[in-house]
Amino acid sequence: MESVICDLCGDNHTKKLWTTSDRWTKTGQRFDIVRCLECGLVFVNPRPDKNEIERFYPEEYSPYHRSKKIRWFLKKNFQLAREVNILRKFLPEKAKILEIGAGGGEDLAFLRDRGKWLTEGTDLSPYAKETAQKEFRLNLTLGQLEEISFPNESFDLVRNKYVLEHVHSPKSMIGETYRILKPGGTLIVFVPGHLYLWGENDMLAHHVRRYKNRAHLSRVLQKNGFHVERCSWWNIFLFLPIATIILLIKLKDRIFHRGKHEPGDHIYELPRLLNRFLKRVLVLENKILAKGFDSPVGVSLFAVARKKP
Ligand SMILES: [Zn+2]
Repeated sequence: MESVICDLCGDNHTKKLWTTSDRWTKTGQRFDIVRCLECGLVFVNPRPDKNEIERFYPEEYSPYHRSKKIRWFLKKNFQLAREVNILRKFLPEKAKILEIGAGGGEDLAFLRDRGKWLTEGTDLSPYAKETAQKEFRLNLTLGQLEEISFPNESFDLVRNKYVLEHVHSPKSMIGETYRILKPGGTLIVFVPGHLYLWGENDMLAHHVRRYKNRAHLSRVLQKNGFHVERCSWWNIFLFLPIATIILLIKLKDRIFHRGKHEPGDHIYELPRLLNRFLKRVLVLENKILAKGFDSPVGVSLFAVARKKP
């Protein structure tokens, strides 16, 4: 375990918010969730170091596998199709895309097949690499982005979707991204937002931080030279129901002092009808966001940033 300073602002004054255990490995080990008193970033501290973190991502970790159950946020081809349409406006065929933390490769294969772009992906997990190879004929590069050393100015687009909340230093990852993007190249980032939404979901997915607001996310990008073209909340309409569910689960856990959930548990599996309804909501929301409307609330944050031409 290692103690760390705030990755966003460098301050070392924090307040402990609560203590929790890991839902996957069930070692009984406890982790403190703290908030930076200077900038408000919420993160796990002390945390497993780079060597220890591997055992928290076992073979069963769900993003390494192709999703088969009804999980509305994983069955997202309709969202990817929209993303492809948006990207086509500025990415020519054969443009080079890199996805960081590509997992089992579902998204990347979709972008390759629909968008006709040249795709590369990275991940830390040999299991993810194996799935991506077997299911989608994708050859992921294994390792931390900073250690892989892609040549300067290699990519037209880097996609960083729900990765920053897992990594040891978002600052160095974003800096490295800037280096490997071509001049004028684009970075797309998604992260979970709101510190009070920290819950079961984060523990199951092994997050080590959440971002408080748009300024938080913009700051880590601007500090590394990016021009932030757009930064908005995402999952707008589901914010209230999701926030309510997370807060109720937290309340229940606090009252009964339990954490008896199995990996990949109930929170992601939904009845088919509800699933269909949620999909409709997201389709509508994506349409609105695609028109350029930035939402002031949501469950996640996303940003589109550009390297100087
Ligand atoms: Zn800070």
